[in-house]
Amino acid sequence: MEQSGPHVLVVGAGVIGTACAHYLAESGRRVTLVDRSTVGGEASHGNCGCICPSHLLPLAEPGIIGQALTSLVSHSTPFFVAPRFDPSLWHWLLRFAGNCREKQMIQTGHFALALLQQSRRLYDELITKYQLKCDWETNGALYVCKQPQAFKALSAKSELLQTEFGIQARRLVDQQLTDMEPALREGLAGAWYFPDDAHLRPDHLLRSWRESLVQRGVTVQEQTEVRALSLRKECARAVITDRGDIRAEQFVFATGAMTPLLARDLGWQAPIQPAKGYSLTMPRPEPCPRLALHFVDYGVVATPWLSGYRLGSILEFSGYNRRVDPRRVALLRDGANQYLAEPCTETVEETWVGWRSMTPDGLPRIGPCPVASNVYVAAGHNMLGMSMAPATGQMIAQILNDHTPTIDPEPYRLAA
Ligand SMILES: Cc1cc2nc3c(=O)[nH]c(=O)nc-3n(C[C@H](O)[C@H](O)[C@H](O)COP(=O)(O)OP(=O)(O)OC[C@H]3O[C@@H](n4cnc5c(N)ncnc54)[C@H](O)[C@@H]3O)c2cc1C
Repeated sequence: MEQSGPHVLVVGAGVIGTACAHYLAESGRRVTLVDRSTVGGEASHGNCGCICPSHLLPLAEPGIIGQALTSLVSHSTPFFVAPRFDPSLWHWLLRFAGNCREKQMIQTGHFALALLQQSRRLYDELITKYQLKCDWETNGALYVCKQPQAFKALSAKSELLQTEFGIQARRLVDQQLTDMEPALREGLAGAWYFPDDAHLRPDHLLRSWRESLVQRGVTVQEQTEVRALSLRKECARAVITDRGDIRAEQFVFATGAMTPLLARDLGWQAPIQPAKGYSLTMPRPEPCPRLALHFVDYGVVATPWLSGYRLGSILEFSGYNRRVDPRRVALLRDGANQYLAEPCTETVEETWVGWRSMTPDGLPRIGPCPVASNVYVAAGHNMLGMSMAPATGQMIAQILNDHTPTIDPEPYRLAA
């Protein structure tokens, strides 16, 4: 493709930066994608790969604070806040608590849905057009409950998703459950099926997307850490990296959970906290579930692919640490085994932790940065970065190209 227009440097090659590079390159821009590790080497590597419009409601919902308080004294909950003196965490938690209201939750849900539905459409297009190899499955997702009280709460939420947001959903009980997903055991309280959800294998997606970008002329520079911005008269000229300066005309920071570490250079106190999640990747078990399964009572997700199987979960607010807590690893397999007809005993190929970038209201921040007129941010995608990436990348390309964005960018704007 012929490249024209100002050169754009995208910092951070997770799924968000890669999607930004994709849509910028597709619009004909010259693009360089830089990462301090490798393309898709951080949160975008070992996540569950669910592309889930059904998951539009934010974590900040009425009642969640009670769960967070329980987690202060328990290591067996999937939501955990490690008690520690960290003013930025406590400030974040206060803002989060302020968002745990019904009205706020519904409004945020609508803003999230716009990105989720657009991304779901764009994935269909781009996976076909660029032949991205990522075990793409569009057969929906099943949210399964073991206990009646969990099923009651899920049913109330699913009815809200149907009536308020127009999400397609079907309630399943008794035999309907095992007819839909034979890998489940009998005697579970019930489930809800979301036919418009999809799933893919994130590490394979990022590998294939990288190849496609390189073939289309995007320069990918890995193992290059951006340390600062070089500014002149409120305009960024270059980034200063550990391997020299890189000049460009426009800059996009898609640095995920690490965005607050660049706050000084972005002129913006990013309201982002890292929340550690865990996953176990293994060969497909026998029998293997057909659908992506959300085990609601335990907050564990099982994603089956042609090339393997992954269990993932846990939301641990413990700062920037990569320590693997064996109690949490055990929770993944033990949680899943409560729902499956055959316990999963496969050998683990990879035990992984990664940081989600959590904002207090659950919405990502996408748009111009205060530090300079040619610097932009796309970060803070919470638990839904895989699901929101294409729409985020498209929005960034439209903003930088001065085109009217397909989705109104206002709700995702950075506060001054
Ligand atoms: C266990 C778990 C399960 C999940 N499951 C799902 C799911 O099923 N569906 C879903 O939609 N989402 C899921 N998520 C969330 C999803 O993984 C994230 O929202 C998404 O990967 C964020 O992408 P990103 O590009 O913003 O961040 P990242 O993938 O972390 O990318 C940021 C990149 O910036 C680079 N970087 C940072 N600082 C610098 C610097 N100074 N210089 C150069 N490079 C830099 C990093 O090296 C990194 O590669 C899950 C997350 C976890 C932890």
